[in-house]
Amino acid sequence: MLLPEPIQDLINAFSRLPGIGPKTASRLTFYLLNAPEEISGDLAEALQNLKSGTDSCKLCFNITKKGQELCDVCSSGDRDSGVICVVEEPLDVLALERTGAFSGRYHVLRGALSPIEGIGPEDLTIRELLERVRSGGVEEIILATNPSLEGDATAMYLGQQLARMNVRVTRLARGLPVGGDLEYADQSTLLRALSGRQEMS
Ligand SMILES: [Zn+2]
Repeated sequence: MLLPEPIQDLINAFSRLPGIGPKTASRLTFYLLNAPEEISGDLAEALQNLKSGTDSCKLCFNITKKGQELCDVCSSGDRDSGVICVVEEPLDVLALERTGAFSGRYHVLRGALSPIEGIGPEDLTIRELLERVRSGGVEEIILATNPSLEGDATAMYLGQQLARMNVRVTRLARGLPVGGDLEYADQSTLLRALSGRQEMS
């Protein structure tokens, strides 16, 4: 049976999202088809505003509201600009902010190195990070990429790049669930990883 185009289009669109297979894509599509207009309307509006209402921080590449050059952390005068915590995604910033234990600034890589997915250093904000360090005033870089294959490879790469610069480089302590995402780690685990961070050798 051929499905009408609008239905097939939405199924295809859902299928392209991470973690959503064809079955879930169909289920979501038919759910929306039968749900009150308001539910699909809200979803459409939220999707529309997602890109148009947000921007990227010019300094650390965290998410900001549209029209805001710097994110709240970068624009705050209370944060220590001598310490930069390097994370993969904006959600990691949120997770670290929730611990309340970090008073430095961030740099969001917007991903991790992955040869399999064809993601190289130039696809991340690594150049901008090195520029921040080069411009001075940075004493410590905390590499807080995910405890995964890609996260470790990214930390290793950054460690090598930063070794030539006059900056202390540390990596979050082990103890975070391996293969897991930083954003899903509970606060006390994250706190321990942060306070037990070790020098990269
Ligand atoms: Zn920022």
